Amino acid sequence: MNGVQFDALREAAPDGVACDGLRVEREANGYVFETPEETRAGLDAAAFEATAAANPWFVSNWHYWQGIEDPARRAYLRWLERADEHGVRERYEALATGVRREWGQLGIKAGLDGDGERIYELRHAADADREIDALDVRADPLDAREIATEDPKGRYRPLKTAPTLRRGWVFAALDGRDLYRAVDYFYPATVANWFREREGDLDVTHYRETATRQTGIYGIVDGLAPEAVGWLAEACCVDSQCLKRREWDESEAEALGVPRGDGEFPCREPCSLVIAAARKLTLLEREGTRTYEFELTPSEKEQLEALVDTVAEGRIDDVREADLGEGANRYRTRFLRAKRVDGEGRLCGVPTREDDRGEDGGDDGERED
Ligand code: SF4
Repeated sequence: MNGVQFDALREAAPDGVACDGLRVEREANGYVFETPEETRAGLDAAAFEATAAANPWFVSNWHYWQGIEDPARRAYLRWLERADEHGVRERYEALATGVRREWGQLGIKAGLDGDGERIYELRHAADADREIDALDVRADPLDAREIATEDPKGRYRPLKTAPTLRRGWVFAALDGRDLYRAVDYFYPATVANWFREREGDLDVTHYRETATRQTGIYGIVDGLAPEAVGWLAEACCVDSQCLKRREWDESEAEALGVPRGDGEFPCREPCSLVIAAARKLTLLEREGTRTYEFELTPSEKEQLEALVDTVAEGRIDDVREADLGEGANRYRTRFLRAKRVDGEGRLCGVPTREDDRGEDGGDDGERED
């Protein structure tokens, strides 16, 4: 507790103070100072100050939280240090060494600076044990935007909540406001929606409702069948693809039979990436099925299945050149292509369509290349 904090407490006392077990009031016969451990009443000014000085954490704690008006930021910062789970003394002891939490791929450590004020460190969760000297130290929360733009391979990240955040950086000493800003740059609106959900106030918009609102080139996405909406969510929204927990479904009445994910923060409606994917898939799903006949060995069939699985799970880079036991091995795939794909790219030489326009008219000329 410092002089500024005590002066603020004395000024607030006539209106009453209540925070995390601390209660302070100014009554006719003096001050009341109460913590979970003791209650002192009838204190004159000197005794009040001495009692406050003997309970510095309670005063400092009150002063910090009373200065944060934004309810979402306040709730988030309290969640970070598990304020609803532990008492003030326990929390301050934990903050002295740092309280860690994860938010998506972000690792956040709440601690205290030399003056006993809250300070926050933010880095990639996978860098939790790296020395700070080995990381790119940043100070401006705005830098989070640049860090979040590209994945570790330098490719643009169209979905900010994809689990593809690059490592190697740290915001070493942020105050609560700047931490909140940085988190919002990394994962826009995730804290706001997390807070709404905690308050029982998350307004979910389901796929069908979102789809019917689309206009222009996206107006067709309402044509995607319910079953295909499930496949779409399985393709884009599960934990391996997105860190949000999907709360939307096909409609209020029809839940999708796809895991929602375990993310800390909810997804309240299909995002623009999913709607863009839905547009393409709506066009593709208009095609009727056909029966083809291919000659494949059992191992070749399994290899095609392994290829689909490896690409879908993004594991291509994990397949070693020397591992010909892997269906997605490059040499095995080149062998399969040499053997089974003709000079026009057709599997086993089997034509895909009777003619280039598609005889069944299934794509209505809307097929895209
Ligand atoms: S719609 Fe799916 S992919 Fe998009 S943000 Fe929500 S959960 Fe993630």
